[in-house]
Amino acid sequence: MNEMQIPRRNNLDAFWMPYSDNKYFKSTPRMLARAEGMSYFTPEGQEILDGTAGLWCCNAGHGRREIVEAIQKQAAVMDFAPTFQLGHPIAFEAAARVAEITPEGMDRVFFVNSGSEAADTALKIALAYHKARGESQRVRLVGRERGYHGVGFGGMSVGGIGGNRKQFGAQLPYVDHLPHTHLPAQNAFAKGQPEHGEHLADVLENLVALHGDTIAAVMVEPVAGSTGVLVPPKGYLEKLRKICTKHGILLIFDEVITGFGRIGTNFGSERLGVTPDIMTMAKGLTNAAVPMGAVATSNEVYSTIVDGMPSGIELFHGYTYSGHPLASAAAIATMELHRAEDLPGRARTMEPYFEEAAHALRGTPGVIDVRNMGLIAGIELEPRTGKPGARAMEVFRTCFDEGVLVRVTGDIVALSPPLIMERPHVDRIFGTLADAIRAVP
Ligand code: PLP
Repeated sequence: MNEMQIPRRNNLDAFWMPYSDNKYFKSTPRMLARAEGMSYFTPEGQEILDGTAGLWCCNAGHGRREIVEAIQKQAAVMDFAPTFQLGHPIAFEAAARVAEITPEGMDRVFFVNSGSEAADTALKIALAYHKARGESQRVRLVGRERGYHGVGFGGMSVGGIGGNRKQFGAQLPYVDHLPHTHLPAQNAFAKGQPEHGEHLADVLENLVALHGDTIAAVMVEPVAGSTGVLVPPKGYLEKLRKICTKHGILLIFDEVITGFGRIGTNFGSERLGVTPDIMTMAKGLTNAAVPMGAVATSNEVYSTIVDGMPSGIELFHGYTYSGHPLASAAAIATMELHRAEDLPGRARTMEPYFEEAAHALRGTPGVIDVRNMGLIAGIELEPRTGKPGARAMEVFRTCFDEGVLVRVTGDIVALSPPLIMERPHVDRIFGTLADAIRAVP
């Protein structure tokens, strides 16, 4: 077909946009055409300050020359090579670089292409681990209400966001959920970890009492992001860890958002002082320049599965693009920036200023809660009667038109700027947001 004959409207029609109101977007498109440092630029050239690091991913800022050049160089050397029964050096190097910053003893890295694939891979590894130990009755998976682990069948089922599940009906069997940890009556406007809610981890004991030794794994986000920034109450993750260890259950942390410096340490587990058995990651792994995710496991999980198999393929799982050369090149360059620029340290340094700016929104009409940790903040708005989400969506659109990108989920505005942010960026993001909240009753 001659490209000149395709009307512009049809160009928008073809792309079925993910997680989007397609009809609204296509009637009023808001496009991003270029990105650099802390900002996006529209096709018309308007600068949009990025308060979200894309989608919680571009921690080192946009358009980083070091990553771009690494991808270009690798594309010219070797576009693709499989990693099934073959290898190429930079996939191994990328895994080793990731293992340098994972918690001690979690040195085995399985590459995937997204956070969703990481979640499903982690769940399958947990099942394979128990089977290798002769505990094949452990097939039950436990997630948490309001958890988000992507959109594969495993992650969707273990995830606890009703809206992501009810459209589809069929889900994984043998899944249970812990209660979420959002206790606004006791914890509203908490800075960092809230005081109340440790006891909610005890529900895992109830599930063990109900299901006996059939639980394989518990998967939670250290700080839940997509559901609107839920910071774990003090003592909660420690208690989950204790109960998992006591009953032989694997603890999986979904670090897709909290990984790579977002809350001031390499991974969330480090800041929160709790080490899981398996962790997932994606997004910041390549600064989002090429899709890539990963699962890191304890050496015990790895050796139980791999050394437990006398010969042949040890794990019947993998993706054509696991350890893709371009993604590996991007990951290595990103890990280098992460180290050289001390991105976790930058997040730590900026956190107090960011926290104060977020909590300064307390008292703005309609703001019913502010929550934060590291360079993540959630600002919850009072929903309009009978129209959940409408108010925050209008705030999002107003901010965009004023040149600031925020993210909304329900009536919560979530902020997760690149970790290279400076104070003037903080001022601009929160100034624009405050004006938008006042303008959108
Ligand atoms: N897990 C968490 C905690 C996430 O926040 C996300 C995405 O936001 C995912 C998994 C899914 O990642 P992806 O969209 O790359 O599949």
